[in-house]
Amino acid sequence: MNAHARILVVEDEPQLRALLRLYLERDGYRITDAGDGQAALAAFDAEGADLVILDLMLPGMQGETVLEALRESSGVPILITSAKRSDAERIAGLRAGADDYLAKPFNPHELTARVAAILRRTRPAPASDPEPILSLAGGRLVLDPGSRRYSVVGGMGGRLTPGEARLLVALAARPGSVLSRQQLLDIVARRPDEVYERVVDVHVANLRRKLGDDAGDPWLIETVPATGYRLVAALDPGP
Ligand code: CA
Repeated sequence: MNAHARILVVEDEPQLRALLRLYLERDGYRITDAGDGQAALAAFDAEGADLVILDLMLPGMQGETVLEALRESSGVPILITSAKRSDAERIAGLRAGADDYLAKPFNPHELTARVAAILRRTRPAPASDPEPILSLAGGRLVLDPGSRRYSVVGGMGGRLTPGEARLLVALAARPGSVLSRQQLLDIVARRPDEVYERVVDVHVANLRRKLGDDAGDPWLIETVPATGYRLVAALDPGP
């Protein structure tokens, strides 16, 4: 179903790069690869991609810089691969807008499984009806779940990451209900091994930053202490 998706592989170790190309091409993906950050950004500008596999430890321009540059212009799903193993570093990568994180060394089969999972949840199914445009907080925020583009009245606009969009759509689908971090994690991550609920907090923090939603005086997403989150708008009966 995800055949012919284009994947940009950013990896400076030639042997690993060749191995990734081999495994991914065998699954039917079209591969562009790059050995450093400059080449990666040039390739993305030229050809685009449905998913980027990004090594963080690169010569010259660091992977984190590549990630930020991609995120400034695109909501493309990004899977980080890195030998940096600590939770803090994983969280930092997710906070910067990555969709998933795979620690090195990894089994190539796990990588291709993650790739398939990310594409399954981020690529639009061609035959399905488009998801309706969401209007939240009395029209203050408008989100197109298909393209993940949003705009805030009198403020910012841009594109949410797939995880952020899923989280917001899930909150909007259950107005007035509190969703626990675990429930939201199931929606955002859909991965049994990603058990650290702070990922949800990271996505919420990213959403708040993008949308200009102040955690101390929220107009959209309210923190329910020790439980989870809910939409503020759903609680407001209006004038
Ligand atoms: Ca490297």
